[in-house]
Amino acid sequence: MRRRQYDEDDVRVRPGRGSRPRTRRRPAHEDAVQGFVVAVDRGRYTCLVRGAGRRDPDVTVTAMKARELGRKGIVVGDRVSLVGDVSGRPDTLARIVRVEPRTSILRRSADDVDEVERPIVANADQLVIVTALADPPPRPRMIDRMLVAAFDAEIDALLCLTKADLADPGELVALYAPLGVPHVVTRKGGPLDELRALLADRVSVLVGHSGVGKSTLVNALVPNAGRAVSHVNPVTGRGRHTSSSAIALELPEGGWIIDTPGVRSFGLAHVSVETVLAGFPDLIEGTVHCPKGCTHLGAECALDEWVRAGHALPARLESLRRLLASREGALEPDENGPMG
Ligand code: ZN
Repeated sequence: MRRRQYDEDDVRVRPGRGSRPRTRRRPAHEDAVQGFVVAVDRGRYTCLVRGAGRRDPDVTVTAMKARELGRKGIVVGDRVSLVGDVSGRPDTLARIVRVEPRTSILRRSADDVDEVERPIVANADQLVIVTALADPPPRPRMIDRMLVAAFDAEIDALLCLTKADLADPGELVALYAPLGVPHVVTRKGGPLDELRALLADRVSVLVGHSGVGKSTLVNALVPNAGRAVSHVNPVTGRGRHTSSSAIALELPEGGWIIDTPGVRSFGLAHVSVETVLAGFPDLIEGTVHCPKGCTHLGAECALDEWVRAGHALPARLESLRRLLASREGALEPDENGPMG
């Protein structure tokens, strides 16, 4: 079903300068169709509009944001209502008049001391943290950082460990097993059935540094991924998507993966200390013995004793402290380097 009725709450109307009563009804966008934002590029939103079937295929519509939406941000994964020319034909432009309430929002800051939140993806179900077991070596601190981001977004996390043909996953799996984070292991040219099953019918955001094999995975999971990426931007006519930080690709099995090729860093300045700690469930219980207002960085912190008693691995406490110190601006956020 593509059409639905809208009421006056759909578009927030700025009260005119006292001349009109606030209850005045705006014409309902009765002809609006539902779209799913698959890419965003300089004020242009690429939206998938579902067709009803073979005679009425899915179309890709380019849209701009209606003025009524004001400063409200629209990101990949948003479900929106579109009016205007929704034919998807070249050089046409529709308008987004409503953004559906989000089930989740994945955010980052540019760096750990910049508190401006930058939403990246809406309505995701899980964050897939793609890490190579070797070449390049795993970066647990980056994994920890992403786990905190997933916790902050209130979405599931999945560790995807690639290049198992080069190194054994045992050590890394042992590091994260106590946290209850699920994992899947892949190898060069190996089957992806297990990963496919974990992605089916869900909206999954894939993050990972360059060289970890994320692009290889995306291309294997979505056979026409390259073509889809080059087609998302008919208005600007550019062949490739360069400035966007995320793009949604539909899985043949159902569900979506959202690749994040443009995400260069994943700052957590907008995340509270409590949320950072919640990303470390193996340590959080130990903080009940900390003095009031403990920064968990000083000698008075009870977490050293917690680790000495064997409740958590030393590498995890070290990781937590790097993350907290980085947010204080006390350290160069080395684990927050380029991604791709
Ligand atoms: Zn402490």
